[in-house]
Order: sequence, then C-alpha cells, then structure tokens
Amino acid sequence: MELTPTDEDEAFRIAARDWLLANRPTQTPPREGQASREFATAWLAKCHAAGWSGLAWPTDYGGQGLSPARLMLWYEEYVRARAPSTLDCSFVALNHAGPTVIARGTEAQKAFHLPRILEGRSIWCQGFSEPGAGSDLAALRTTGRVEGDELVVNGQKIWSSYADIADYQELLIRTEPGSSRHKGLSWVICDMTLPGITVRPIANMAGVTHFAEVFYDDVRIPLSDVVGALHDGWSVAMTTLAFERRTAALALQLELSVKVEDLIAMAGPAPGSATAERLADLRAEAAALRAMTWRTALREPATPFDGSLVRLTFAELAQRIHRAAMDILGPAGLTDSHWSYDYLESYSETIAGGAAEIQRNIIAERILGLPREPRP
Ligand SMILES: Cc1cc2nc3c(=O)[nH]c(=O)nc-3n(C[C@H](O)[C@H](O)[C@H](O)COP(=O)(O)OP(=O)(O)OC[C@H]3O[C@@H](n4cnc5c(N)ncnc54)[C@H](O)[C@@H]3O)c2cc1C
Repeated sequence: MELTPTDEDEAFRIAARDWLLANRPTQTPPREGQASREFATAWLAKCHAAGWSGLAWPTDYGGQGLSPARLMLWYEEYVRARAPSTLDCSFVALNHAGPTVIARGTEAQKAFHLPRILEGRSIWCQGFSEPGAGSDLAALRTTGRVEGDELVVNGQKIWSSYADIADYQELLIRTEPGSSRHKGLSWVICDMTLPGITVRPIANMAGVTHFAEVFYDDVRIPLSDVVGALHDGWSVAMTTLAFERRTAALALQLELSVKVEDLIAMAGPAPGSATAERLADLRAEAAALRAMTWRTALREPATPFDGSLVRLTFAELAQRIHRAAMDILGPAGLTDSHWSYDYLESYSETIAGGAAEIQRNIIAERILGLPREPRP
C-alpha cells in the first residue's frame, strides 16, 4: 500500500486545513434537541456550499468523488482543527443511509433524498434494533403488511439515535407473512411525520436524550419507499452495516490520537512515572488504531470483517483514554463537562454498532476460522 503523499495530496491537505481553520464553528455544539439539529445542519450547509460535503460520494449524486486517501487526509485535518464531532445528528444520513440509497436505491429515491442530505436539509435515524432484537437483529418482529401500493407498519423500535429530531428513518421490518430470521424483511424509508408514529425519547447515563423508542401504529408507507427489492431487506441491511462498520467512524477513530495529545498536554511536564507510562501506551495504541484506520479505508477490495477488528479496537481504546482523562483530572474531572461527558458517553462504544462480544465472535469465526457459536 502506497502512503507517500503526492504534491497534489499536500495541496489538498493544505486547502482543507486552511478552510477548516477559517470556518469551523468554535462554540461547543448543543448536545440534544432542535438546537443540536440546527447547529449540525448549519455546519453541513456551510461545508456543502464550500464543496466540502459528500466527499466520498459519487459526483453523479452531488458528491466530490474523492479517493479514500483524500477522504482520510480531509478527516486528519478535520480532527486536528477540532471541527464538530462527526457523530452528530447528520451521522446516519451521511455515513450509512445516504450510501445505502446510493448503492441500492432507485433513481427516484436518489434524486429526492441525496441532495437533501448533502445540503443539510434532512436528518435521518436508524430503526433496526428492537427490545428483543439487538445483537440478534434477525429476531426483529415489527411488521409491514402489503395493502395495495402501501405497507402498513406495526411494532416498535428502540435505541433509535436522534429519532426525536429526524425527518426519515432507515427502517428494517418483516414484510413477508410467516417468514422468520433473515428472510422476508424489507429496508424501508420511513417519513417520521407519518400518522401513527410515536417517538418517546430515552435519556442516556450522561443525562442526554440522544436516542428514542419509536412506536408504529398502522403507519402507511408507500411501496415506492422500499429500498432494494421487497422482502430482500436483509441484504440491504448488510450493505448499511458494511458502511456503518467500515467507513462511518473514520474521523472518530483518528480523533482518538488528538485526544491522547490533549491528555499529554493536560498531564503537564512532570506527570509522574505511572501516568507517563500510561500515556505512552495510549499514544502507541492510538497510533496503531490510526494505522489500522488507514489500512481499512484504503484496502481494495475491502476485506470483509476488517471493520469488526477496527471497531473493537476503537471502542475499547476510547474507554481507556477517557478513563485516563478522569484519573488525570481527579476531582476536577467531575466539573469538567467536556471530559466527564465524553467519559460517560464512551461506555456506549462497546455496545453501539455491534457489541464488543459480537465483534469478538465475528473476529473469531470469520477471520480466525474458529468454531461457530451455537445459533438460535
Ligand atoms: C449509543 C447507542 C446508540 C444506538 N443507536 C442505535 C440506532 O440509531 N439505531 C438502532 O437500531 N440501534 C441503535 N443502538 C442499538 C445497538 O445496535 C444495540 O444496543 C446493540 O446491537 C446491542 O443490542 P442490545 O442492546 O439489544 O443488547 P443484547 O443483544 O441484548 O446484548 C446484551 C449483552 O449480551 C451480549 N450478547 C448478545 N448475544 C451474544 C452472543 N451471541 N455471544 C456473546 N455475547 C452476546 C452482548 O454483547 C451484550 O453484552 C444504539 C446503541 C447505543 C448504545
């Protein structure tokens, strides 16, 4: 793999750095509700107007068509400039709903939704998990009954991030009567303003309502909003999860290196040998994660299941870095809202996007070839 930047790459990097430093918002983004939506969509609209949105999306669909290497250079500069976290309410639309519509949607779906996403005019959420179907997603029970040219949806989703402020949801439901497990599902674009939808926000342990339960009571969704073929939703969901696990979190992974440097600065010139050793380990681990991130982003064709290796490494390292931050800050950590908030949030990293145990199962079975877990 060739990682030596060309002169053009360097010029791109400098242009990205200059634009980000001149334009990134400097205030702390609001954490929830309409204010967080307004902040995120205004930032996205600003990026779009300057030609810095949809960087890896094809030019035919309003993107910039950048190579994976250029995208990585952008993210390197993005996290160094301390631009707003990419894990905001535009995350789902930009990183896996939009890419899924590009890969599997109809031209009509692309024409309607993709410009809205890139211009910051629509926010999406994900409706996959249910109370009895998280790690075991194929156990989902929310149904969509075909009636004429509509699906009539009934059931419940949970942990749907930003459902309280989203316009659309990538909704995975069981549409073939009598089907079970991976068969008979459909991936549907659900307009969150449809009659019959109730959103009940859930506060997380940091006291912020990022996710919600969503209830569907005879919600009528046009069949034209099914992405991919009717009853073939599992394969579309795998497309979504491939984006979610391989490319969605690139910036977040690179950001950990910046956080370690912040910690080193925070610890001061004489941190004590135990803290110095701990910080050195964290710096080395963040560098290893950065290298894994570059490799995953650039490897073509993508190696299946690499995403699980990187996701697991990221999730556990994020928790160690935030734990170290709280130890270094001591009692001051309780009043430092930035680090204490991120510390509490970091607990979710080994659950969201596939729990750590599930990633370990994937690595064991699919990469190492160990015997399979018993399946339901
Ligand atoms: C911050 C956050 C945001 C989220 N956002 C969304 C969202 O926007 N949309 C959405 O649909 N979902 C979302 N989720 C849900 C997430 O996908 C699920 O929480 C996750 O898949 C785990 O499912 P579960 O919570 O039902 O736990 P369970 O599947 O019930 O698992 C409970 C525990 O058992 C372990 N376990 C389960 N099965 C096995 C096994 N076979 N082998 C070993 N251990 C096992 C798990 O690892 C876990 O530790 C979010 C979750 C979090 C934390």
